[in-house]
Amino acid sequence: MPHATTAHSPKSAPAFGRFFLPGPTEVLPEILAAQTRPMIGHRGKAMEHLIAEMMPGLQRIFRTARPVYIAAASATGLMEAAVRNCAGRRVLALVNGAFSDRFLRIAQANGAEVHACEVPMGHVHRPELVESELRRKQYDAITVVHSETSTGALNPIRDIAEVAHRAGETLLLVDSVTGVGGAPVETDAWSLDFILTGSQKALALPPGLALGVANTRALERARHASNRGVYFDLLEFESYIRKNQTPNTPALSLMYALAAQVARIESETIESRWARHRAMAERVWEWSGEMQARGVDLRVLAPEGHRSPTVTCLTLPEGRLGPSVTEGLKARGYTISAGYGALKDSSIRIGHMGDHTVSELNALLAELADVLGA
Ligand SMILES: *Cc1c(COP(=O)(O)O)cnc(C)c1O
Repeated sequence: MPHATTAHSPKSAPAFGRFFLPGPTEVLPEILAAQTRPMIGHRGKAMEHLIAEMMPGLQRIFRTARPVYIAAASATGLMEAAVRNCAGRRVLALVNGAFSDRFLRIAQANGAEVHACEVPMGHVHRPELVESELRRKQYDAITVVHSETSTGALNPIRDIAEVAHRAGETLLLVDSVTGVGGAPVETDAWSLDFILTGSQKALALPPGLALGVANTRALERARHASNRGVYFDLLEFESYIRKNQTPNTPALSLMYALAAQVARIESETIESRWARHRAMAERVWEWSGEMQARGVDLRVLAPEGHRSPTVTCLTLPEGRLGPSVTEGLKARGYTISAGYGALKDSSIRIGHMGDHTVSELNALLAELADVLGA
């Protein structure tokens, strides 16, 4: 029997621009198609060529002169790598949502002595407060989430890095899973000791790859870590990437998609990509004001000046529930997310990241206004 057109074939897939989850994000058809290239040996010249060719583009995305590690894992894998290699014994965990809480739990699970510094959901960590924590006690590392995907709040990681480094030997470990590729990140200029992301967020690739950069301070710490383990040993990543290889079998099909996407980002330029994300975020903030003017009490959870350019959490008017709003949109062919965890019923989240544009976003917002009865 010939292969019939199935629900999964590109022919029946909806037009690009309908899927606005804050991860995984929508992947362009040509990027999905790049995954169908044939297999190659991962210790041969073809593999080395693939990695060597995309490395300068990856470095421009992270704004670093250091090599970018490529792991076959979801982003949480490199969160664990950050902790096992670089956290030391005493960790200050900056918590302001679900993913920063995950970072804290990973540190605890790996035996660190963790002090949680918590601010309410939607808020960010102020560098002055971090500095006073560091004056009270010495820490080997700080864990922080750049763009807290559960609330849409954007931590000032540049300023937090500055106070961390003023404190001496404290390393800053940054989860920038919904930052890198969408929000401005300056790995080298801000002296971020370890930074990681995942493929399925602002980079708009299928899930399954985690990318990270360690500076020399982080590697020095790793060298003295007694419990780095095997799969996420950063010293192994460092020595293999120098040969344009990965320590173990890479997720080859995803690497093809990554190479294609890095080339696309190179032609867009990372600065334009940041600007496009900023424009999408500003459109959502402005639109929530328009909704209020029309009597629908929709509010951006994160305070002005501390909002992520890649994801917005909107608190709903009394009597509207997150899951029912997302269902209403689904019936119109659009996907967004309800709130995360405790915020599930009271809010919705729009992932305006990856390869979407303001015009696609406007189409979504028009449907959403309708669902909300505005
Ligand atoms: C999605 C996300 C993660 C987890 O990523 P996985 O790929 O599911 O492991 C971690 N941190 C943040 C901020 C995220 O948005």
